[in-house]
Amino acid sequence: PSRAAAWATLAPDPARLLGLAPQASVVDPAIELARRGTTMAAAQEKYYERPPQIERGWQELLIDTHGRSYVDMVNNVAVIGHSHPRFTRAVSDQLALLNTNSRFLYSALADLCEHIVATSPDPILDTVLLVNSGSEAVDLALRLARIHTGRSNVVALREGYHGWTSASDAVSTSAYDNPFSLASRPDWVHIADVPNSYRGTHRGAGAAGEYAADLARLLADPDGPGADLAAFICEPVLGNAGGVVPPAGYLARVYEQVRARGGLCIADEVQVGYGRLGSHFWGVQQQGVVPDILTVAKAMGNGYPLGAVLTRRDIAESLAREGNFFSSAGGSPVSCVAGLAVLDVIRDESLQQNADAVGRHLAGRLAELAERHPLIGMVHGLGLYMGVELVRDRDTLEPAVSETAAICERMLELGVIVQPTSERQNVLKIKPPLCLSRESADFFVDRLDEVLQGGW
Ligand code: PLP
Repeated sequence: PSRAAAWATLAPDPARLLGLAPQASVVDPAIELARRGTTMAAAQEKYYERPPQIERGWQELLIDTHGRSYVDMVNNVAVIGHSHPRFTRAVSDQLALLNTNSRFLYSALADLCEHIVATSPDPILDTVLLVNSGSEAVDLALRLARIHTGRSNVVALREGYHGWTSASDAVSTSAYDNPFSLASRPDWVHIADVPNSYRGTHRGAGAAGEYAADLARLLADPDGPGADLAAFICEPVLGNAGGVVPPAGYLARVYEQVRARGGLCIADEVQVGYGRLGSHFWGVQQQGVVPDILTVAKAMGNGYPLGAVLTRRDIAESLAREGNFFSSAGGSPVSCVAGLAVLDVIRDESLQQNADAVGRHLAGRLAELAERHPLIGMVHGLGLYMGVELVRDRDTLEPAVSETAAICERMLELGVIVQPTSERQNVLKIKPPLCLSRESADFFVDRLDEVLQGGW
């Protein structure tokens, strides 16, 4: 069924939920914000002077307590759309039937693992371990690599973010997302340069080889990680660096070097995987490589806590021999049903194809905008995984940081949620639900055009 048909048959009256017309406010935002003093989790406050009080969602729209709707351009969790009726029904039905810890075998567990293996970038990755989040998946991936190789060193890339738990935090370097780890990085973690051929050390045609050669030097350094190398970890397309696509051939060369030293290659697909790139289901496929371990979360549960590690059986068996992995809620019946519903909807509503088509349309419109607005230095990324990098000067690439923040604030007033990302906070993060319509994409570009014409 088409996307429209699916939504129409499953939700008898979707229009009722849109609530586009502003209504009387039911919640005083000032009081709500004051009440939030008890938590540090409301991350929107770091982006906006007056963050919206979001009350409900519908497809790629979010609706606040005043009944205003926003196009959600940043939600890389709600991939199939907010409040998808098929997803909601599957989860609530399962909740009413059974939810328990993962010591029991239930069919949804086997079904989900089978379905994930069916998406595998290579048949060699045929074993799935279920957890609750991306951080846990990365922690587990690192543990698997260290147990399987019997080694300890890990190489990660600068400007990367892999999570907040101990090991995922240790391999994260993004100062913005992750201020804690800067203080004390464990000595088993080694950092290599981010292969950004727009503003990095190496640019132009030879960049892939030059970045790979830098990594080869790091591995060859007698005081470096090469002798006791357990793993190399990175995102196949670099989300936290601003949606940067590594220069073609970089990852293939790096994987070869890592394997030559006995290390394993971990692909963190928590942001980039699950069809977001449009052209491919996984980022590693876009880069033409096969990892030894792949991590996934965010999209996998469409907001319900669910993550996974996909790996080779022999690697998973090394962990099983230690007998030391158990997650109480990881892979619970409800999370498995949630995970199955997400995969079904991605397939039945052709959301990867939609990411490809709408992503191309968006890229074309943004390229046209860049011709008229010199503030746009570069449009990074692919599909619905993009970053619009804003610079004050196209030669010096001076980051337009305050401009980026002001533009996001103004876009919010105009009904679009878009946020700054990258180490320098000068990139507009574009990672919307994969059901983003062409109309919503145009709405975003038209508002951006308006704002860039001097509106901020
Ligand atoms: N890895 C990447 C690439 C991420 O972007 C994130 C979260 O932003 C994580 C891991 C951590 O995932 P989670 O927030 O689900 O723990």
